[in-house]
Amino acid sequence: MRVLTFLKFLALAVLAVAALAVGRTVILLPARAPVALQMPNISPDEVARIGGNLSKAIQFQTVSYSLEAKPDEAAFVGFRDFLAVTYPKVHAAVEREIVSDYSLMYRWPAARPSDKKPIALLAHMDVVPVPKYGLKDWTHPPFDGVIDENGILWGRGAMDDKAILISLMEAAERLISKGFTPDRDIYFMFGHDEELGGDKGAKVMAGMLQKRGVQLAWAVDEGSAMVKGAVPGVQSPLALISLGEKGSVSLKFSAEDEGGHSSAPKAFTAASLAARAGYLVTDTPYPLVLDENLEALLTAVAPEMDFTKRVAIANLWATRPLLRDQLAKSPTMAAFMHTTTAFTMMKAGIKTNILPQYGEAIVNYRIHPRDSVARVKARAAEIVGDPRVTITQLGGREATSMSSVDGEGYRLIAKAVAQTFGPMPTAPTLTVQGTDGRHYGVVSDDVYRFMPFVFKLEDLKRIHGTNEAISVEAVAAQVTFFENLIRSAGE
Ligand SMILES: [Zn+2]
Repeated sequence: MRVLTFLKFLALAVLAVAALAVGRTVILLPARAPVALQMPNISPDEVARIGGNLSKAIQFQTVSYSLEAKPDEAAFVGFRDFLAVTYPKVHAAVEREIVSDYSLMYRWPAARPSDKKPIALLAHMDVVPVPKYGLKDWTHPPFDGVIDENGILWGRGAMDDKAILISLMEAAERLISKGFTPDRDIYFMFGHDEELGGDKGAKVMAGMLQKRGVQLAWAVDEGSAMVKGAVPGVQSPLALISLGEKGSVSLKFSAEDEGGHSSAPKAFTAASLAARAGYLVTDTPYPLVLDENLEALLTAVAPEMDFTKRVAIANLWATRPLLRDQLAKSPTMAAFMHTTTAFTMMKAGIKTNILPQYGEAIVNYRIHPRDSVARVKARAAEIVGDPRVTITQLGGREATSMSSVDGEGYRLIAKAVAQTFGPMPTAPTLTVQGTDGRHYGVVSDDVYRFMPFVFKLEDLKRIHGTNEAISVEAVAAQVTFFENLIRSAGE
């Protein structure tokens, strides 16, 4: 009898939990039909004119080769003069400063006194080199700025990052033509060495603002974008607005030994010690965390998913560990959830029958904002726990802080997305590569990363790779986006 009562109780409890789970799903994540991406209506003449300007911009070979190489003076100065000639209204209404010879800092002053803090729109004018061996694989040469019959503009910098820079100038020129004046200072910051870390461009410009006592309300740089088809089962485009970027550091694990003939070895060699250290740190991954940003992303896309998935996402109180492990099966998703470790290089030994006197293993870390370079090093030392292994830090860049998902910048970016491309789900994310934006943390609590175009997986290999290209229609849409963004930020 007692057992029966207990079973009844259990059955009721299970039913209650199931009802709660379904109830939460129906209330919190009701099903929603997918939405289509809408492209702004821009006349073919205007699209062609904007495309023509980006084509010219690409023909300046503003390449960042290395920290040691001197930038090509003619290309960078030529590009600067091209901007002045092409955007005369901007250059009349906006103050321009040349920083570190080639970077450009524009301040569009507020037309009337206001207590609104300034904003900054960031882009970079430099591009990565095109390796000689890769030249023959380009459908059109990388610096000719060819626009083909399908309206695709080919060239180095088409996506990264001249399209954004030109779109910002086009948007400002267009707004000034329409009589728009901002009610707050608006900065355009165009670095010339982003591909080399931005130490002479963005870092110096941010420092100048800091010295002048300028604090920004927010800034926006390249980084994340809109995606479509990236989440299985979700057809709507999704605007991913990045709140910060990961840091990075490499650690070298090295060991020395007296060496000798391999016929009478000890239990270890310099090679095995180094390899073991590299193995241990990569085999002890950082814990995966399904944090509030990932939760917001899941919540944004869930309404298009089937009922079972919606139940799982609406009830993270019960499903979080399961969902976390499921998501982490994709290395891309896992990268958002923790500091990653990649065992990338090894060096040891000179001959098969000689005990090596030296061995080294290199592990590259991409640091999540919740970790730091110092903590990465300390953790590695603890995991390896071997006095025979020396740990050396190679380079090192801290992750940025995370910008606010409730801030004005986030809200206005999301609003400009809806105005330009129609309503779509929006979610916060994290940028896993470096951008100039990280230097602006000293003058802005909120630095977002968002590029107003639909990023496809195939684009990933084109950026910094062969056949970088963009449709001129997409560039014209970017102009409309920045026009909407600047207008709502500055009036
Ligand atoms: Zn870039």
